[in-house]
Amino acid sequence: MMQEPILDFRSMPKIELHAHLTGSISRQCLHDIWEKKKGAGETDLEDPLVVMPPGNHNYDLKTFFPLFSSYIYHLVNDADSLDYSTRSVVRDFARDGVAYVELRTTPRAMPNAGLDKAGYVSAVLRAMEAAQREEPALRARLILSIDRRNSREEAHEVVALAKKFRSRGVVAIDLCGDPTKGDVSTFTGAVQEAKAAGLKVTIHFAEAEASASDAELSTIMSWMPDRLGHVIHVPAAVKRQIATRTGIGLELCLSCNVHAKMIVGSFEAHHFGEWWRVEGPIVVPCTDDVGVFGSPLSNEWALIQQHFKLERDEILGLAKRGIEVIFGGDDEKERLREIMW
Ligand SMILES: [Zn+2]
Repeated sequence: MMQEPILDFRSMPKIELHAHLTGSISRQCLHDIWEKKKGAGETDLEDPLVVMPPGNHNYDLKTFFPLFSSYIYHLVNDADSLDYSTRSVVRDFARDGVAYVELRTTPRAMPNAGLDKAGYVSAVLRAMEAAQREEPALRARLILSIDRRNSREEAHEVVALAKKFRSRGVVAIDLCGDPTKGDVSTFTGAVQEAKAAGLKVTIHFAEAEASASDAELSTIMSWMPDRLGHVIHVPAAVKRQIATRTGIGLELCLSCNVHAKMIVGSFEAHHFGEWWRVEGPIVVPCTDDVGVFGSPLSNEWALIQQHFKLERDEILGLAKRGIEVIFGGDDEKERLREIMW
């Protein structure tokens, strides 16, 4: 039985640090975009509410990536749908009580919109700026992701875009994508270039067994990333290494990992239980892809309370610790210290 929440998690000011822009688009928003395109004779795609039935949140690593490559990217493929969906994502986070969000996206050209990768990043930032004017309680920043399938040159291009758009709110680079693809050592130079430019670095880490080889994990740890995402298939020696990195952020995504069966067992078995009390690293609960997995950040905190029995003070303390690992700078940290409970 679900116990009474000890906090109003929706009203609690929250920090979201691991949210993929496209994966955070709600099904209703995708449906709105589809309906408009269908009406204008601009799409042959099926209704998103049929492709992704509202109650279905059980996407695993085999079905998750094709959902994007063969469906969502084809639906959100022009300037209007990009603008509409980005604003909708920011608004949804604001309405869930998120005070600060770092969205992430892999720069992609949109030929239909006449946008190259730089044009895409600029359009996303413009939509984020517009959405923040409508939701002044929320501040949003952007992380640009390198895809594991990228070439060395494409990775450097992502870093160049991150540098170019820093003044408009790009704060970091990420490495993401299908864990069965790519060799991370390809990206060492790009990560070094980003760090040299003062950009922050977060990396999808040991998300699946395929991306948890000793060679891959030691390469990533040698980059000295500021934060790690997922942190699932981690051998004991690497766990000890992470534990000594004071101030490293761990972006843990409970519902995503459970629904996608990335961990064995259910919520109680999630490694959140193992990490949240550890001194050095700072755990931040995140949604990853709320549009796919259907659990807003307020619900992630409710799940934490329910399954790990944190007291009210422990929850508020943990939420506030997250401030230390945001990439948004000192002024933003100060603002969050003032508004968080
Ligand atoms: Zn992710």
